[in-house]
Amino acid sequence: MADKLDLSDTEWRQRLSAEQYYILREAGTERAFTGIYEKNKASGEYHCAGCGQLLFRSDSKYDSGSGWPSFYQPVADDVVEERRDASHGMVRTEVRCARCEGHLGHVFPDGPEPTGLRYCLNSGALSFAPDEAGE
Ligand SMILES: [Zn+2]
Repeated sequence: MADKLDLSDTEWRQRLSAEQYYILREAGTERAFTGIYEKNKASGEYHCAGCGQLLFRSDSKYDSGSGWPSFYQPVADDVVEERRDASHGMVRTEVRCARCEGHLGHVFPDGPEPTGLRYCLNSGALSFAPDEAGE
């Protein structure tokens, strides 16, 4: 994994759009069914919109019907960090980018095999890079 990316609040505001800042740095959630990647079925890689680290590949993405892009596993165990989140009157497991600590979404134990996990992420926290044609 690459070195940690640790920027000041001012630097993050300059680097990110208002929507990306709200999600990644303020742990916001985009409204269901509004994100640009929710219905994306193209083959490729999903990177952190904050620092560019590769997080998920399209082959672990599936249609959960939740309204947010959903994956059953990250590309490696150490690219994301999980934290207990007791906000909004619920106890959930928050998922953050391990490199820049940007908020990505939450992980739930109701996903498909082989992991049984559902990484329920915000499109605004991700940046998609499609595979080259012919690959
Ligand atoms: Zn990141």
